[in-house]
Amino acid sequence: MLALGGNAMTNADGRARVEDQIAAAEVAMAAVAELIAHDVEVVITHGNGPQVGNLLVKNELAAAVVPPVPLDWCGASTQATLGFVLMDALDAELARRGVDKRSAAVVTRALVDPNDPGFVKPTKPIGRFLPADEARLLVDHGETWEDRGEKGWRRVVASPEPLDILDAAAVLELIRAGFVVVANGGGGIPVVRREDGSLSGVEAVIDKDLGAALLAVLVDADVLVVATDVPQAVLRYGTPGAEPIGRVTLSQMQAYAAEGHFASGSMGPKVDAVCRFVQGTDLPGVITSLDRIVDAVVEVGSTGTAVVPD
Ligand code: ADP
Ligand code: MG
Repeated sequence: MLALGGNAMTNADGRARVEDQIAAAEVAMAAVAELIAHDVEVVITHGNGPQVGNLLVKNELAAAVVPPVPLDWCGASTQATLGFVLMDALDAELARRGVDKRSAAVVTRALVDPNDPGFVKPTKPIGRFLPADEARLLVDHGETWEDRGEKGWRRVVASPEPLDILDAAAVLELIRAGFVVVANGGGGIPVVRREDGSLSGVEAVIDKDLGAALLAVLVDADVLVVATDVPQAVLRYGTPGAEPIGRVTLSQMQAYAAEGHFASGSMGPKVDAVCRFVQGTDLPGVITSLDRIVDAVVEVGSTGTAVVPD
């Protein structure tokens, strides 16, 4: 199970023009095709922060002309669009290597608890900063925005815990049929179950790394690899005493996390995701950069931060 960060879908300065996204997908899928050429079965999931951010801007600017769409719809749109972009890029890279495999993208829903504390007190910042008067308008439409000082105001939403990946069975069937599956992008489309058993999308975003950890367990992955823009998780990150972490046991990594080494909006959830996977399966999890994923899987522990069972 491979989780691709937003950096795999935008250019280095975070821009997400169409050409940036296609170029980034080509780089990422070249790495994935290399892995597949090493006879590794891969399931791909991906972030969608910049893409949802762009959709929210369109929502805001076009609200007087076409109705804004909710966050679950933004999640579904970006899963489909990024799935398409990744499939095209991956199929091309596989064909170039003479690998006879095809890709498939699955629009994927993740079940969350309607009583998740995030729905009462939203904490996840999304989208662009706006001046107070523009933010006020959106607050009047029921959104929660916070004053972030100099940069302006920013929307915050619930980031509920994923409880189940509802389309994991479809993903498994496609894996068994030989497809390289792209699934659960953006952590999954957050849905809650109504009393009558039916599902309803909710205004929230799920952390894509936590979604990846859960899907990895459900598809019986042998290893979870979280690919991002740094080669390792680092102790005392950004300080003169910084120290990259290599091979590490689960309990040691959990102790580092408890000491607060990993920032909550970025490295924190990756460490959390990998630890959950290792804890739940007794199998390894790796955090590393895209260019190292072949080594990270072919010889676990040889590169990146490899969390292994105690
Ligand atoms: P992605 O888009 O791949 O999810 P994020 O930006 O969310 O990437 O997370 C990766 C970033 O986490 C790195 O670029 C780095 O700046 C930051 N980071 C925070 N704490 C740490 C740490 N302890 N070790 C390494 N990177 C860290
Ligand atoms: Mg991230």
